[in-house]
Amino acid sequence: MPAPDRRVLILGGTADARKLSALLEEHGVRTLTSLAGITSNPAPPAGEGRRGGFGGVPGLTEFLEQEQFDAVCDATHPFAAQISAHAATAAKAVKVPLLRIERPAWVPGINDHWTIFGRVAGAVAGIARGAHVLLTIGRKEAAAFFARPDLTGVARMIEPFEGEPPPRWRIVLERPPYSLEDEIRLLQSERFTVLVTKNSGGNSMRAKLDAARAVQCPVIMIARPGKPPVDTESTPERAALRLLAMLNA
Ligand code: NAP
Repeated sequence: MPAPDRRVLILGGTADARKLSALLEEHGVRTLTSLAGITSNPAPPAGEGRRGGFGGVPGLTEFLEQEQFDAVCDATHPFAAQISAHAATAAKAVKVPLLRIERPAWVPGINDHWTIFGRVAGAVAGIARGAHVLLTIGRKEAAAFFARPDLTGVARMIEPFEGEPPPRWRIVLERPPYSLEDEIRLLQSERFTVLVTKNSGGNSMRAKLDAARAVQCPVIMIARPGKPPVDTESTPERAALRLLAMLNA
């Protein structure tokens, strides 16, 4: 058991963050999970919660100084590059240990037809002319795809798109997990000619890739942005073990 009053800041916004808060609280560690505040009705964490940005590196540094956490765990989404960079800089400045949960990226198998792009702009330009697209990258960067006049498609997202998509596009609001059967049905229902996705990794979203392989639908894969080199663990379970060992020491 860690010493009483040990407290960890979890940077959240993912199921991994919720799992980590539950595991640490079960083992007597107090947690404060921070969310950006962009998702409506997020599932609550096991311990305390807060919402909203910190105000860049200065704000996060001040917050860490004031709250005196024993450790910080960055359990943000693989594409949330800014907050991870801020966490690395602020944690170093106040000398608080930082661990990041980095779920393994998806890798293509021999029957997959992926084209990988490092940036959204490259992915937009790389889609074949006149394609019918299943777009599963969230709402933030969808507009770049909507702007290509020759494309049609469906954009699946959790939170509503801000603005009006062109009439050639339909928005579908849905939350994961999705089953393989449903993903195959969806890909076949409209004869999509390409699936566009980000390399989020993890199991809850990978059914779309298995479905694309099953129906031989080409995939445009957007690679992850770089994050600072800090200590990482691949799962919330491993992160909890590592943090508990650190807090015991
Ligand atoms: P981002 O570009 O890395 O961060 C933008 C700004 O949002 C940060 O500078 C920070 O504001 C604030 N922020 C982000 N995460 C925060 C957190 N956990 N607590 C407090 N403030 C936070 O992040 P993003 O890509 O917009 O993602 C926002 C959140 O949604 C993340 O927590 C992420 O885990 C979750 N999410 C993202 C994706 C995705 O595809 N990007 C998918 C699923 C979930 P200040 O500079 O003011 O501190």
